[in-house]
Amino acid sequence: MKPNTAVSIMLESAAVFSIATFGESKSAYKWAKFLAAPAMVIVILTLVEHVLNVDMGIDWAIFSPPAGAKGAPLPGRMSPITAAGLAAAGSSLLLSDIRRLALFSQILALITLALGLLASTGYLYQVPSLYRMRADVGVAIHTAISMFVLAIAILFSRPTMGLMIGFSSNTATGVMARRMLPAAIVIPLLIGWLQLMGQREGYYGAEFGVSLLVLTNIAIFAMLIGWNTSILHRLDQRSSETANALRASESYKAAILDTAVDAIITIDTKGTIESFNPAAQKMFGYAPTEVIGRNVRILMPQPYRDEHDRYIAQYLETGIEKIIGIGREVIGLRKDGSQFPMDLAVSEVSLGHGVAFAGIVRDITERKRSEESLVRQAEELTRSNIELERFAYVASHDLQEPVRTVMSFSQLLEKRLGNTLEPQSKEFLDFITDGVIRMHHLINDLLAYSRVNSQGAAFISTNCTELVSKILKNLQASIESQHAQIEVEPLPTILADSTQLGQLFQNLLANALKFHGPQPPEIRIGVKEIADGWLFHIKDNGIGIAKEYHDRIFVIFQRLHTIEEYGGTGIGLAICKKIVERHGGRIWVDSSVGSGSTFYFSIPRRERQK
Ligand code: ADP
Repeated sequence: MKPNTAVSIMLESAAVFSIATFGESKSAYKWAKFLAAPAMVIVILTLVEHVLNVDMGIDWAIFSPPAGAKGAPLPGRMSPITAAGLAAAGSSLLLSDIRRLALFSQILALITLALGLLASTGYLYQVPSLYRMRADVGVAIHTAISMFVLAIAILFSRPTMGLMIGFSSNTATGVMARRMLPAAIVIPLLIGWLQLMGQREGYYGAEFGVSLLVLTNIAIFAMLIGWNTSILHRLDQRSSETANALRASESYKAAILDTAVDAIITIDTKGTIESFNPAAQKMFGYAPTEVIGRNVRILMPQPYRDEHDRYIAQYLETGIEKIIGIGREVIGLRKDGSQFPMDLAVSEVSLGHGVAFAGIVRDITERKRSEESLVRQAEELTRSNIELERFAYVASHDLQEPVRTVMSFSQLLEKRLGNTLEPQSKEFLDFITDGVIRMHHLINDLLAYSRVNSQGAAFISTNCTELVSKILKNLQASIESQHAQIEVEPLPTILADSTQLGQLFQNLLANALKFHGPQPPEIRIGVKEIADGWLFHIKDNGIGIAKEYHDRIFVIFQRLHTIEEYGGTGIGLAICKKIVERHGGRIWVDSSVGSGSTFYFSIPRRERQK
């Protein structure tokens, strides 16, 4: 290799390296030109020397000739083939930053490739005329190979341009080209070489050699094409399967979008509407053609518009999507300017080229309306309950006095006239006295009932064991007369309105004593600690309650027996329920006829108020 050839090849290789390594940046191209330019000067001057047949003294400008070389005919001059090849490569590199000329620049590189291949073939087949135009200047073998490699490097340094687009693509075309091209170069070269060798060694004559060459080429290429065809066929099949799947998924999606009850609207990251399904059309009153391509702001009134713009701006800036996945209640704006409440859920859809957002919108006008009417009804109910309670309180309180008067005077009358009255009048007087006593109890109980909420005391620390034993003392007479057995498990100290809690135990215990069957009452009071407080129970062996009455007995004035069977006003359990509810708990019964009853009530644990 001549010194100038070596220098030029190195300069041009460095130029390719710059483009291939540092990408298609401006500075990479600048370096490439900077390196290719001196090589171009050398090769063009050499060509001028050859054409004009002059010695410009550049052949030994870089290195001194070896002793005795001077004077020999052109010993240091680059071959014209090399000079032409390197000139084509250099021009290709100098033009490489002009996109428009990408194809032209690659054709120049192909000239270098062809000249390199030509000279290499000359060496392989031992045909000097292919690498030596004149007897005294030839292309060295490594120069020929270097040119070939340099040209390939130039082509591959910009794989996405010109000729290389198809070659480097991932499509069937690219796969085919990448497989066939190397084979098309290497196989004929090798087979030709083998044929020539055999012929030169005298194994066969020229005719047989050519026939062998042609047939082997046909066989190998037919095989290669067959192999590639099956690969391409598979690729084709896969791509048609993908296309089918895509079509199926498209129609599936279209079916969902078209029949969805909810409006589904997709927007890009700037808020531009990309799709608008029929439900959206119905909900907002716009045809898809009227809104697609416009900003989604048109579907919302202020202040949601600005809020939405802020979300989008924030997303574009930081990539944080504040609204994703959250169902929010917002207001929608119809084409006619009317507004409606809607539920909005937004999800991110990842597309090949980025993301989009799908908004699923539900018109909640009806829901809102019924929610509002429910709230209104609840408010009315609370108000009427309070009024009723107040009325019950006032009525029972004011009735107490006249009833007491009637009661005491009827008792007085009975005492004075008792013995003098004829039997029927006495019976009438007894009815009056009984009735008025009963009315007195009723009014007292009603007063107690209406006082649970309005006149309850503060919750204080209450020792339930002590409380229950006090109640049992109150009920002593009834316990003894009925020979009742009462067992009390250890009970906790809790925060409660102790008077009301006492009333609760008293009512439940009195009932357990009252509603007994033929056996003497056996009553057990116990408690269990639960997650949020205490669950008390009072179990008896009395007459029991049929399942259908389990709820009814807690309603005011609801009784299951006549006064003759069991006395009472039917308010006791209603008061119990009110007391338990005031403490935040629940009361219920577990019972069946003939097998006793167990009343349960829970009292949630609460922090002591400071
Ligand atoms: P009263 O005892 O004044 O009738 P309550 O409200 O205390 O009213 O009870 C309502 C009804 O529930 C009673 O009439 C009775 O039928 C039934 N009941 C209450 N406690 C028991 C019990 N321990 N065993 C059986 N029945 C009961």
